[in-house]
Amino acid sequence: MKFNFFSTFFTLVLLLLSYFGQGQSPFFNAEAGYQWLSTDLHIHTVFSDGAVWPSIRVEEARREGLDLIAMTEHLEYQPHAKDIPHPDRNRSFKIANGMIQKGEKLQVINGSEITREMPPGHINAVFVKDANALLHKDSLSGIQAANEQEAFVFWNHPNWDAHRKDGIARLEPFHNYLIEEKLLHGIEVVNETTFSEEALQIALDNGLTILGTSDIHGLTDWAHHIAQGGHRPMTFVYVKDKSKEALKKALFEGATIIWFEDLLIGKKTHLEKLVSQNLKFGSPQYKGKKTIMEVEVSNESAAPFHLEYTGSYSFHQRASVFIVPANSTISLLVKTQQKEVSVALPFRILNAITAPKKVLEHTFIVK
Ligand SMILES: [Zn+2]
Ligand SMILES: [Zn+2]
Repeated sequence: MKFNFFSTFFTLVLLLLSYFGQGQSPFFNAEAGYQWLSTDLHIHTVFSDGAVWPSIRVEEARREGLDLIAMTEHLEYQPHAKDIPHPDRNRSFKIANGMIQKGEKLQVINGSEITREMPPGHINAVFVKDANALLHKDSLSGIQAANEQEAFVFWNHPNWDAHRKDGIARLEPFHNYLIEEKLLHGIEVVNETTFSEEALQIALDNGLTILGTSDIHGLTDWAHHIAQGGHRPMTFVYVKDKSKEALKKALFEGATIIWFEDLLIGKKTHLEKLVSQNLKFGSPQYKGKKTIMEVEVSNESAAPFHLEYTGSYSFHQRASVFIVPANSTISLLVKTQQKEVSVALPFRILNAITAPKKVLEHTFIVK
């Protein structure tokens, strides 16, 4: 085999880039000067009740192209403590963070899951400076300690059927108190394999940040079939730069969208941005004297878009409901009956959830 220095060199560069995740395209495009950062803010290892060492969490996140993970071991629940005694509750974070190379795409932040009965249930604090300082006899003191460290604090799985036998997320007076005192900043609307419409409504009513996390204990590949094209639930955060400070600020401001299976869940303003930045209609074309408008529809994102056309035209090849698969372009033939220079096509994005029973409506101008 002939040795080609340049192709060998570039192959090596590509391998290195893909190893550190730099070569991966983003899951979702953003407008110039912004990014949608992929995060998982709720994960476990053997340092609480997870099944793997922290290094596996870092390797999983690298392989899946994540920008940031938070190590959030249960503070009070330590079933492996006899085998892995560790008085330092920051240990899992320190091991994971110690693996991160300078300039690497993936970042790791410190966190804790304050693990209590309902109310308040399980509360995550991320951007924690010292997890040991969150250990208190009563749950309020732990949450206050997290806030004293300027942590971002959110309510985990409020719909968990171990705490809510009907699976319905609802606020207790304790939660209302935390919200009023600005001690609670977000809520999991998606946790592991569940989506809670009630939690989404609580987020919208109380100005809490909308979050989706894996809460992974085993392997993400087993839970979410990564090798078959699946993905863990992630929270995408809209930021100006990749710094931890920018991410934290955006979390407090509620600039998030959840990607869970095919669903995109978030506030209308953010979903509107994500859809218009990733689903693009080309310019209209007519063949000869025919009045059937052909337009290319490109989906530049990692999620499919499930569309329902709500206008008065009909299509030549499709029903009013169709899917534009991830990272692909389809052709749409619109029977406009006369040649139009510009056409407005109103759609409902069926997998873009803005509120319980509500999806995003967006009109694309084709010209
Ligand atoms: Zn929990
Ligand atoms: Zn958990």
